[in-house]
Amino acid sequence: MRIPRSRIGLFLVAAAAWAAGTVRLPSKGPDVQWYKGNLHSHTINSDGDSSPDAVARWYKERRYHFLALTDHNYFTDPQGLNAFLGANDRFLLITGEEVTSQHGDAPIHVNAFRLQQTIEPFFAKDVLSTIQSNVDSIRDAGAVPSLNHPQFRWAIDAATLVRVQKLGLFEVFNGHPQTNDEWGLEEMWDSALTAGRELYGIAVDDAHEFKRFGPERSNPGGGWIQVRASELSEHTILAAIERGEFYASTGVNIEEMSRSSGQLSVKVEQKGDRQYRTVFIGKGGRVLARKTGVEATYRLQPGDGYARATITDSAGKKAWVQPVFQDSVP
Ligand SMILES: [Zn+2]
Ligand SMILES: [Zn+2]
Repeated sequence: MRIPRSRIGLFLVAAAAWAAGTVRLPSKGPDVQWYKGNLHSHTINSDGDSSPDAVARWYKERRYHFLALTDHNYFTDPQGLNAFLGANDRFLLITGEEVTSQHGDAPIHVNAFRLQQTIEPFFAKDVLSTIQSNVDSIRDAGAVPSLNHPQFRWAIDAATLVRVQKLGLFEVFNGHPQTNDEWGLEEMWDSALTAGRELYGIAVDDAHEFKRFGPERSNPGGGWIQVRASELSEHTILAAIERGEFYASTGVNIEEMSRSSGQLSVKVEQKGDRQYRTVFIGKGGRVLARKTGVEATYRLQPGDGYARATITDSAGKKAWVQPVFQDSVP
């Protein structure tokens, strides 16, 4: 067969480009990449103002990779939405529900991920047993629990959080304007970590309003997580989250993150002329180290207990890197 002269030309251009390093060869697995997602949102199936498809579109159009619709005590099954909005390695709806209970005036809300039907809330004799009974029932259903906005109406204090068992996730940031996240929530996290709870902090929108925007409204886009995983599937994303292979963010992007062998290191993406400060925190909430600049590394020392990192930029945006624990030191 005769190859047309124009195609030979193309071969030569491609070969020259490859030699110059300008053509990306197909990458081979098992590569991991960052997947951006929000694990807390509401639709008109509870107290949100928009339909499930409008909510899912909001995130997909802004290049999020995954989203959980978490209506109050209602399982908004995303199967149909995944059929027309889902896209291989680009967009996925993860199953979710906000299991919504209370004790007295204290709201006890626990998100559940990876479920097939509505999980009913439990109401118990005090705040701790209300949290624990809902965490247990979510686990019994084979789902993953995450404790929502602990300080919303000051429902949950550190003494309570440290006693909750079988809980691996909580919201260190919630975009709803009334959740009091800026008031000692990280200290509460450190209390739990110091008590030996392996707890990871997620950032979420808890978005209810997609039609009207303002600082007093619970709008989307305020908080998210970036998960490092090998593929975009519910199983793989949730497994990576449960291992702490993610960071939570309100606007700081991390390019590289390593949290193995008792060492934590990050490289932040430089935005404009912003400055970055990384604070490493260990047992008892003790500051282990402070670093300024886009790169920061901390190697655990005996007695640290654990090390996690909070990164703040000069515009007030943040990222939280999940703790590594002393017993993971070889
Ligand atoms: Zn809630
Ligand atoms: Zn909510």
